[in-house]
Amino acid sequence: MREFNQSYIHGRFVPVQGTTVLQSVNPSTEQTIAHTRLANRDDAKLAIAAAKGAQPQLAGSSKSERIEMLKQLEAAVLARADHIRDVTIEEYGGPVSRAQWVSQYASQCFARTAKILAGYEFTRHIGESVVHMRPVGVAALIAPWNSVAGTICNKLASAIAAGCASVIKPSELSPWQTEVTAQALHAAGLPAGFFNILLGRGDDVGDELSTSADIAKISFTGSTSTGKIIARAAVDSMKRVSLGLTGKSAAIVLDDAPFAEAIGQALGAAFMNNGQACVAGTRLLVPRHRLEQVITLVQAHVSALRVGDPRDPATAIGPLASRSQYERIQHYIRRGLEQGATLIAGGEGRPQGLQAGYFVKPTVFAHVDRDMDIAREEIFGPVLSILAYDNEADAIAMANDSIYGLQAYVFSSNVQRAERLAQQLQAGAVLINRTMVDPLAPFGGVKQSGLGRENGLFGLEAFLEPKAIVTV
Ligand code: NAD
Repeated sequence: MREFNQSYIHGRFVPVQGTTVLQSVNPSTEQTIAHTRLANRDDAKLAIAAAKGAQPQLAGSSKSERIEMLKQLEAAVLARADHIRDVTIEEYGGPVSRAQWVSQYASQCFARTAKILAGYEFTRHIGESVVHMRPVGVAALIAPWNSVAGTICNKLASAIAAGCASVIKPSELSPWQTEVTAQALHAAGLPAGFFNILLGRGDDVGDELSTSADIAKISFTGSTSTGKIIARAAVDSMKRVSLGLTGKSAAIVLDDAPFAEAIGQALGAAFMNNGQACVAGTRLLVPRHRLEQVITLVQAHVSALRVGDPRDPATAIGPLASRSQYERIQHYIRRGLEQGATLIAGGEGRPQGLQAGYFVKPTVFAHVDRDMDIAREEIFGPVLSILAYDNEADAIAMANDSIYGLQAYVFSSNVQRAERLAQQLQAGAVLINRTMVDPLAPFGGVKQSGLGRENGLFGLEAFLEPKAIVTV
């Protein structure tokens, strides 16, 4: 049994003052694996003070010093990649292939950002002014539980590159992944206070960060409902906010796509990260006259998916992260049935042969109407809704009929046609004939999927603010 009871403040691991203790279980076995003492507002105040104290030094650092720091962070995280992978499997239930990818992605964030920084001009001449891109100030980096090391490292890389000291608040549901990531980041040996890490509840530590006058910027990734609370809290002190929020992505298969391949890719997009991905393509839009063919292909693909032990490389889908996630998925499967969708794969309960763990059956509904809950709400598990369209205009209208707009997918053998269609989709990004994001492209959503962009150049600029200086 592990005990986590420290925060990382001012370059040291210090005891948490909060008294609330949270129990974590391994989602594959439901066995308790850790007790975590959560930080409270007093801990958060110390972390904010440490970042505030370090801000002038970081803001005053040169580009080459920041690049050096990013390289140190990259090396330190890469050296602990296996550990990050292993705890992602044990605490979260990520299948080994995905956990391995996350563990590599975490270190690569620093390398990619260092490259962007190297080519970035902090000073430009515009009109009669010299415009200086200045760090916005102390940043709060708030992360969800479904991609812990990756989200922390990605946000931290941009903050350091811009010259912003930070307080990082990962999800209270991921203490072990946070601990291992914090140890890795600490090993990079950056000056004290440049980043600080603590685990606490959202309505406690998270609220302290969102309302503190000493925080200038919030970079948040999580649900739209929490994003709204944060944005409202932040407006009082006019904090800058970047919000990476909920998704309900559409994957459109055009009638000229190679169907067998496209359906396989679309299922990969729907079920990635055990279906717990903001960018999961959970609405599959297919031509009505090909629906029966799609159903046959989907059933064949899904029946070949291995659900089970996330440590097994043959496993495609591991357990969901928590009991509440398991129950949430059961709720949506029942809702799909009640509202009249046709179940073509999966269904309620655990897959056969799995007696314990938060495993669910990869589930697919056909004949889904766009007004059904399973077509409108983010389920956040391996549940796919197939909707049939009559023509291209219908497909576009259906894809855009959502309050969300994070990412979309288009499959077609005619790339120009797919690109034309992509122009009309309301989404922060459109992936054509692929399911892997471009890590240097701006990442974020339109509509209620977010505000602002992360990654690459846009991710860096999200932590900067232009200051114009003009003389006579
Ligand atoms: P969540 O909104 O419940 O929590 C996210 C973080 O916010 C946690 O650290 C939580 O403690 C904190 N928080 C909660 N209440 C807060 C408050 N009042 N003030 C400040 N912080 C608060 O989200 P989750 O359940 O951890 O993650 C799943 C959601 O995240 C899904 O909706 C998913 O789509 C979304 N997500 C989005 C992206 C993206 O880039 N768009 C990426 C991953 C996940």
